[in-house]
Amino acid sequence: MSSVTLEEKQMSDVVPVASTQYQGVWCYAEQRRGQIVPTIYELLQAGRKLSSDLKEELVAVLVGYKVKAAAQDLIEHGADKVYVYDNPLFENFLDESYAKALQELVTQGKPNKLLIPASTHGRSLAARLAVTLGTGAVAEVTEIALDAKTKGIRATRSSYGGNVVSTLGCKDQRPELVTVRPMAFPKAEKVPGRQGKVVPLSVEPALMKSRVKFIQFVPEENGVQDIGTAEKIVSGGRGLGTPQGFDLIREFAKALGAAVGASRATVDAGWIPYRHQVGLTGRTVRPKLYVACGISGQIQHLAGMSSSEVIVAINTDPEAPLMKLATFSVQGDLYQVIPAIIAEIKKQRG
Ligand SMILES: Cc1cc2nc3c(=O)[nH]c(=O)nc-3n(C[C@H](O)[C@H](O)[C@H](O)COP(=O)(O)OP(=O)(O)OC[C@H]3O[C@@H](n4cnc5c(N)ncnc54)[C@H](O)[C@@H]3O)c2cc1C
Repeated sequence: MSSVTLEEKQMSDVVPVASTQYQGVWCYAEQRRGQIVPTIYELLQAGRKLSSDLKEELVAVLVGYKVKAAAQDLIEHGADKVYVYDNPLFENFLDESYAKALQELVTQGKPNKLLIPASTHGRSLAARLAVTLGTGAVAEVTEIALDAKTKGIRATRSSYGGNVVSTLGCKDQRPELVTVRPMAFPKAEKVPGRQGKVVPLSVEPALMKSRVKFIQFVPEENGVQDIGTAEKIVSGGRGLGTPQGFDLIREFAKALGAAVGASRATVDAGWIPYRHQVGLTGRTVRPKLYVACGISGQIQHLAGMSSSEVIVAINTDPEAPLMKLATFSVQGDLYQVIPAIIAEIKKQRG
């Protein structure tokens, strides 16, 4: 693995642009149907570190409808202040109107750093904002630090299947805009009763007009646990042999109370929908337990799950990379090993 680092000299030459004018670390607090998306607690954790180093305020920005109640939750997770746009205009996510609201607020509030989750919504918003604000953006970062001299962002991201790790900054623009990869940071701890300031904001409806029309919201499959937030994940790979192999993975996941994940090989083969894919071009997960069944563990898969607390690999090949990485490796045919584990779980539970 090679590492490309922005030249020290180049970073040090950057004059901290009117840094006194641009103050505060802001986090865009994405919500779905009024619920804060769990990744935001990771953003607040990353943001808190930056705001402490800079000795500046940590601010969350909440946009939606009937979302006021979530502001206290953000304060209890570390925000000093929460700006809230709570308006029927923002009932459904339309990135044009959300971006306009954020653009207006950022132009007035002049934050130093703006963190946005690298989610579907966040990626779209960040791209629009970088263009309309004429500022720099670093996408999909997994680590954030500050340049000792300029106090500019030094953000780490990986590219080319994890083979290149680059450290990037935003030269002399402010705010520095960063999209943060889900699960790259631990979640901020909740401090019940923590005090902060909530600032309600109003909008000019005419300004929020969008050329996009919201038609319908379709929730994901009923009762299916999302791998992005699951504490336990059981994933299946090409070693399952057939799409029906996922029936066994689902049974195993159910016995463990886990979500179902998958390797790209199985997603590409149409055995399971994309939202289950773990890895570089899928989701990054950080569960307490990750069980990989019939997955070899190519670098692109590892990029999405190697930070899991406990990793169990079940594979016929003891030389498979995941067998070497795993906390516990079980060498054997998954069609024998998994039913035996399920039977044991049932026995233990009586
Ligand atoms: C740009 C790019 C992005 C990518 N992004 C991703 C990504 O996000 N996620 C991802 O997963 N991959 C990704 N890939 C693909 C990746 O390189 C691998 O091809 C893929 O992960 C392999 O999937 P697999 O482990 O299921 O299959 P294989 O590599 O074929 O491994 C199957 C494993 O099953 C074992 N096995 C076979 N039969 C049994 C049995 N009966 N019991 C137990 N074990 C058995 C075999 O020993 C083997 O180790 C990407 C590739 C590229 C080029």
